[in-house]
This record gives sequence, structure tokens and C-alpha cells, in this order.
Amino acid sequence: MSGITRRNFVKLLGAGGAVSAFGLAGCESTPKTASRAAARVVVIGGGFGGASCAKYLRVYDPSLNVTMIEQNTSYMTCPGSNWVFGGLAKLDDIVHNYNALRGKHGVNVVHDKVTAVDPAKRVVTLASGKTVEYDRLVMSPGIDFRMKAIEGYDEAATQIMPHSWKAGPQTALLLKQLQAMPDGGTFIMCPPGMPFRCPPGPPERASMVAHYFKTHKPRSKILILDAKEDFSKKGLFMEAWEELYPGMIEWVPASKGGKVFRVDPKTMTVYTDEGLTTHKGDVVNIIPPQRAADLASTVGLVNDTGWCPVNQHTFESKLAPGIHVIGDSAVAGALPKSGHTANNIAKMTAAAIVSELRGHKPPVPSHVNTCYSLVGPEYGISIAAVYRLGEDGVLAGVKGAGGLSPTKAPALQRSQEAGYARGWYASITADTFG
Ligand SMILES: Cc1cc2nc3c(=O)[nH]c(=O)nc-3n(C[C@H](O)[C@H](O)[C@H](O)COP(=O)(O)OP(=O)(O)OC[C@H]3O[C@@H](n4cnc5c(N)ncnc54)[C@H](O)[C@@H]3O)c2cc1C
Repeated sequence: MSGITRRNFVKLLGAGGAVSAFGLAGCESTPKTASRAAARVVVIGGGFGGASCAKYLRVYDPSLNVTMIEQNTSYMTCPGSNWVFGGLAKLDDIVHNYNALRGKHGVNVVHDKVTAVDPAKRVVTLASGKTVEYDRLVMSPGIDFRMKAIEGYDEAATQIMPHSWKAGPQTALLLKQLQAMPDGGTFIMCPPGMPFRCPPGPPERASMVAHYFKTHKPRSKILILDAKEDFSKKGLFMEAWEELYPGMIEWVPASKGGKVFRVDPKTMTVYTDEGLTTHKGDVVNIIPPQRAADLASTVGLVNDTGWCPVNQHTFESKLAPGIHVIGDSAVAGALPKSGHTANNIAKMTAAAIVSELRGHKPPVPSHVNTCYSLVGPEYGISIAAVYRLGEDGVLAGVKGAGGLSPTKAPALQRSQEAGYARGWYASITADTFG
């Protein structure tokens, strides 16, 4: 081992592990050791996409210099946030920190807000005034809302009619409102049209609120005014609502007057039917139409759809080379906007970056999404699918893989799926933050 220092030996071991992990063993080209040792990868956002990517960059190649920039010092997950409304989890149960990313994985975690990125100079500017240089940049800043889409719904209105579609203070606010609502009151929820973060999230939220009402305020009602004609796992949710919460939940599709045009937070009124019909709620949850997070627009990564077009093999931006956009902000073909896919895309992107830094072709990804919903404490349902990369992007479900929970399943199966839902949460958060 003469001529090989201990540090270099550890680097070589790391490189070997990563190479075989990507199925690149036996590849003829020589790894670019010198440039790899110097490569600085910056990841913006410490949610499911960003934290997973920062961790797996270091897992795949421990010699990389990885910096993750996240504005908050801890992260409350949206998954599990609906369970809080049902009393099945506490707010603290769904908060995660970045200690393992720092200590166990050697990621340089910086808490600051990114205000600008200069793709030509490869420099990130922070609210504190500091700058961070990069060789490769990954952005996973999540979503923001199209606030002007519903008349009367603005920043101030979110404090009266919360969206609770980014977990944190908005989750706590909706919880407080539901707890303060009198028995016999009406909870109105208004989900947006596609595409939006977590399509099965609204019916799961309705289910969890129904569970809370059933156990604490049984005379209360839930009205879902939907901008869509259909919703994820509809047959399964409807069957469960009839069994667990008969007569409590009413769902109104867009064609029957469900689409919301205007709100008046002062009178807690929602206007549908092009403004002709009014609904008053005691608690109103407006989930506005969505778009890629503000920062993605600031950096120039967004096209006229409001989302970020990417090469769906490597998730490199089609508008700014050298910047990868992952998670909910990206247009990811048939993949839904979920924490599970954000985690999955993050690993594939980390693998692509490590491969490219070594002068290898990125591995061809195969993706998976699994989404569990709790309808009651012992009643879980799920949908799962496997996705392959086609010529134009990520294609819908591989035949024979995944599927939906069956209808009319025995109680034992529903309760087993409720257990799997909790297990899924424990494993995805351990994989992302642990
Ligand atoms: C109610 C609800 C339930 C859900 N349930 C599930 C579920 O059961 N399963 C599932 O798979 N998915 C679920 N999801 C979806 C999941 O939460 C998202 O798809 C996932 O969080 C997307 O990850 P992301 O990394 O793209 O964004 P995020 O997780 O939102 O992370 C973005 C991060 O970027 C940071 N950031 C943004 N801008 C800046 C900036 N300028 N500077 C610094 N930091 C910045 C933010 O602070 C944030 O931490 C649910 C969503 C909701 C709303």
C-alpha cells in the first residue's frame, strides 16, 4: 500500500462501493479521481427530495463535498399531517431534524434562505449575504400557491381559511380551528384541479377529520367542494366513508357546482357555480391550485405550465444546464407529486450526478410510488405502481406491478394496511432523514 494514504484508500473504497452500486463495475473508462475529489454539490431544500439527495450523494460517493441549504432548522412532514387531525398522531411525531445528515453522513447543512442562483457563475446567494459556489446544483424547493386563482384568497386569508398544504404552522392552525368548532358545525374543504401535491391527500384529510368528528362532535358535517370530476382511490374512499362515517361526508364534483371561484374570509363563505351558489363553513380549508416554488421561478427554471421541465432521465433542467430539479417542482412524466417519488427521484439523481462526475453514463432509472391512506385508525388503503423511463419521459405503470387495495376487503386486511401505512411512514422518514 505504499504511496496510498489512509484518506485516499478510504476514498477508493467509497468509489468502488458506489461503482458497483450503479452496476458500472467493469466499465472501461477511468474515474476522474482528481475532479471527483474536488466536486462540490449543493442541494437546495431539506424536504423529501433535498434531504434524500444530499444523503445519497454522500452514500454513493463519500468523497463528494455536499452542502444542503434549508431555510428551516427542522422539517414537519406533510405525510402524517392528516393523521394529526384525526388524533392519530401529535404534531411533534412528524417533525424531523438534520442531525443524522450532518453527523452520520457528513453533509454540510446550512440553515439560510436562498435568494438567488447564478447558473453562469455557478453561485448561490443566501439571505444572510453569503455565497456558495457549486459544480453541480440540485434544487428541491417544493411548491407554492397560485394565490390569484381564487378571488379573495390571499396571504391574509390563509390565516382564516388555512390551506395546511405545507406542514407547519398551517397544520397547527387548522387543528386548532377544528378543535374549537362546535358540535353540529360544518367543515368545508376545497381541493384544487390537477396537478397538485399528493392527490390522495384531500380524501385522506376528510377521513381523518370525520374520525375526529365521529369521536368528539358526531353531529358535524364535512362538505368537499372539488375542482375535479374524480379523485384518487375514489371507490375505496367512498366505500369506507359509507361504512365508517355514514351521512357525514358529502363530495361535490366540479360539474355539480364544486369548483370554487371566490371566498369571503370575513363571513366564512365559499362561492361556487361561477359565484351563484354560496356555502358557509365553521372551518374552511382552501387548498389552492399550485405551481413550482417561488425560488424555481426566480432562478428561471419554470416554463408557462408553472412547473420545471427536466430531462426525466437525470432530472437536469431543460432551461438551465448543471441544475437538477427534483421533487414536486419538477415535471416528472407519469410520476405523481409525492414524498415517495421525491425520495426515489432524489436517489436516481444522486446516482446520475456521481456517474457523470466520473465520466460514466447515468444509470437508467426505474421508479416506484406507494401511497397509503388512513381512513380510520384500523382502516388503511393503498395504491402502488412501478414506472419506467420511455423516450419522452417517465411512463405510467408497468403492467402487473403494484395496484390498488381491493374493494370489499375483510376488516383484517384493512387493519393490516393501516399497520403498513405507519410502517411506510417510519421507513421513508428513516431513509430520508436517518
Ligand atoms: C396533507 C399531505 C399529505 C401528504 N401525504 C403524503 C403521503 O402519505 N405519501 C407521500 O409520498 N407524499 C405525501 N405528501 C406529499 C409530500 O409531502 C410532497 O410530495 C413532498 O414533500 C415533496 O418533497 P419536495 O422535496 O419536493 O418538497 P418539500 O418537502 O416541500 O421540501 C421543500 C423544502 O425546500 C425548502 N425551501 C424552499 N425554498 C427555499 C429557499 N428559497 N431557501 C431555502 N430552502 C427553501 C423548504 O423550506 C422545504 O423544507 C403529502 C402532502 C400533503 C400536503
